[in-house]
Amino acid sequence: MIQQASWQAYEFGITCIDTELFRPGLACCYLVQSGDEAAFIDTGTRNSVPLLLQVLEAKGLRPEQVRWVMPTHVHLDHAGGAGALMQLLPKAQLLVHERGAAHMIAPQKLQAGSLAVYGQERYQAAFGDLVPVPEQRVVIAREGDLINLGSRVLQIVDTPGHARHHYVVWDSTSRGLFCGDSFGVSYPELNDGLQRFVFPPTTPVQFDPDAWHTTIDRLAGFDAQHVFLTHFGRHDRVAEFARELHQQIDAYLGIVDRMATQSSPEPASLAEHLMAHSQQVLSMHKRLVPPDEIRRLLRGDMELNAQGLVHWLQRKSA
Ligand SMILES: [Zn+2]
Repeated sequence: MIQQASWQAYEFGITCIDTELFRPGLACCYLVQSGDEAAFIDTGTRNSVPLLLQVLEAKGLRPEQVRWVMPTHVHLDHAGGAGALMQLLPKAQLLVHERGAAHMIAPQKLQAGSLAVYGQERYQAAFGDLVPVPEQRVVIAREGDLINLGSRVLQIVDTPGHARHHYVVWDSTSRGLFCGDSFGVSYPELNDGLQRFVFPPTTPVQFDPDAWHTTIDRLAGFDAQHVFLTHFGRHDRVAEFARELHQQIDAYLGIVDRMATQSSPEPASLAEHLMAHSQQVLSMHKRLVPPDEIRRLLRGDMELNAQGLVHWLQRKSA
């Protein structure tokens, strides 16, 4: 059976496509159209590629019209499908952060690292073997670079904090920032009207809270009208969002500090503390989400976040 793509069109030729990783509403990527050219910002995984092609066709675009494939960083929920997608887009170039480029050209190390994070079974089901991207199709993205797409100019912003190989795309046409993971994670199921729940993905192995605080301030400085998150979708009220994310990063560090006074915390018990903290923040929202539902939605993230925080603590004290 062919899976039907789930997508949502916004203004300014921007389409949000659910990449269907683990569950609907967890991860997306964006198709941006301008004139007769298009770009994908993030790709999802190998399994997402047929969905991306479906949406391209639905938008009346041919694969040759895609000029750029732009993984915001080389974590596999964002870049896992890049190699397989590039094989189907004959004119596209892959725009990748200088610290991530080698992993796209020779993905063995990236695959091994991700296997260690997810475990064999979960890794294979979600990501499969990575497809290398030929070196001559790779373009390095650097801070301040301006990228032409049809009549649009996209600006690259270097955004360490979640990962050192992360960039964000500023699109002055929509006054939007395509943030990857640099502006946090915020799931539709946990938001209502004015209240948003956002948290930092402190995924292994390059979480850097100081750099991240600086990145959030820089991004807030663009005075964007929208942020386009990979997890998940478009959000407005950017300044409030930034404030909340700053607070959440500090709250995470507080939790780690309290747990780390005696010995290095166990990831499983740290994940429970992060979950309890999330439940507590959400309990102050007007629309209450049942605790079991919160647990279902956040369990995977809290486990990854705990792993990343323990890794950070070890690096810090090494
Ligand atoms: Zn991500």
